[in-house]
Amino acid sequence: MQQVAINGYGTIGKRVADAVRQQPDMDMLGVAKTRPNFEAETAIDKGFPLYAAIEEREELFAEAGLEIAGPVEDLVAEADVVVDATPSGIGAQNKELYEEHDTPALYQGGEDAELTDVSFNARSNFENAVDADHVRVVSCNTTGLSRVIAPLREAYGVEKVRATLVRRGGDPGQSDRGPINDILPNPVTIPSHHGPDVETIFPDLDIDTLGMKVPATLMHMHSLNVTLEEEVDAADVRELFADESRLFLIPERLDIDGSGTLKEYALDAGRPRGDIWENCVWEESVSTVGRDLYLFQGIHQESDVVPENVDAIRAVTGSADAAESIETTNETLGIGL
Ligand code: NAD
Repeated sequence: MQQVAINGYGTIGKRVADAVRQQPDMDMLGVAKTRPNFEAETAIDKGFPLYAAIEEREELFAEAGLEIAGPVEDLVAEADVVVDATPSGIGAQNKELYEEHDTPALYQGGEDAELTDVSFNARSNFENAVDADHVRVVSCNTTGLSRVIAPLREAYGVEKVRATLVRRGGDPGQSDRGPINDILPNPVTIPSHHGPDVETIFPDLDIDTLGMKVPATLMHMHSLNVTLEEEVDAADVRELFADESRLFLIPERLDIDGSGTLKEYALDAGRPRGDIWENCVWEESVSTVGRDLYLFQGIHQESDVVPENVDAIRAVTGSADAAESIETTNETLGIGL
């Protein structure tokens, strides 16, 4: 059993903790938090030992009636692997702590690629992370793009990818984010930083990306154009995608017209927190004109990286190969809408 620690119990951390608990080969050793809030209380309610991420703030937890198991150093020392899910840039500050205790660490997409030996997407490059000490699970958008690009490269070859990312302004709980009444080119410079991030997964890929931000919280939306190396029928691409376990091809009959109905569908289907771990590709949008493929996909930013973190744990601990890990993760979480 791999003993897993989570440092940073927010949007991503709490979802990874729940997913880890469902794995037959992993134990949730504990979670570290900086302050007592609703997430700290629910962590305790779920039975996760709670550690103080900042020692001087330990007494705040006691004042709030929350029992602390110890400082984050103890948690890191005991763990076989730590998942750092702290805000962008904090993971880099924590690297020294993980190195001191010789504990392999996963970081999230908000960290710079240079921080780690490997940037990770289970479908695309699981093997690169086997036995690595520092691995970055790429961002929600890069994960979403990689899952589509990997099978296309293998089946047809990819000459060039052009993607426009219409990004949610903030997560549902982020009341300080925006815009609330605007459509922003963001970043305004072209290409956006997302393309180079995808190249950390596929170093030889030719990709240009453009970013926008809109007043939405539920999901990102990608408009994708991939120039393939051969002419392909759209029906063949749909078949290719149907075989990919983390691509959900939205059938026309469901009458799902956007991220609102997608989230409603996930909630109706009993998904925890309404999470959608899969890319949501509108089947009817998958079209080809000569060698050009077009599609729309929705990406649930809060959850698509969760199964990737679980697989990355198996990669760094060398406890399963890609196919075994992906299958176990999919089965335990219930991936496949
Ligand atoms: P979040 O703010 O929801 O959660 C971060 C948690 O870490 C909070 O609970 C915060 O209190 C805690 N924290 C802050 N400083 C800490 C410290 N020094 N030690 C321990 N904990 C600390 O952030 P998030 O959205 O979960 O993002 C975490 C990482 O995941 C970032 O790198 C982000 O870019 C990446 N990511 C986020 C999303 C998303 O849409 N939310 C998607 C993919 C990847």
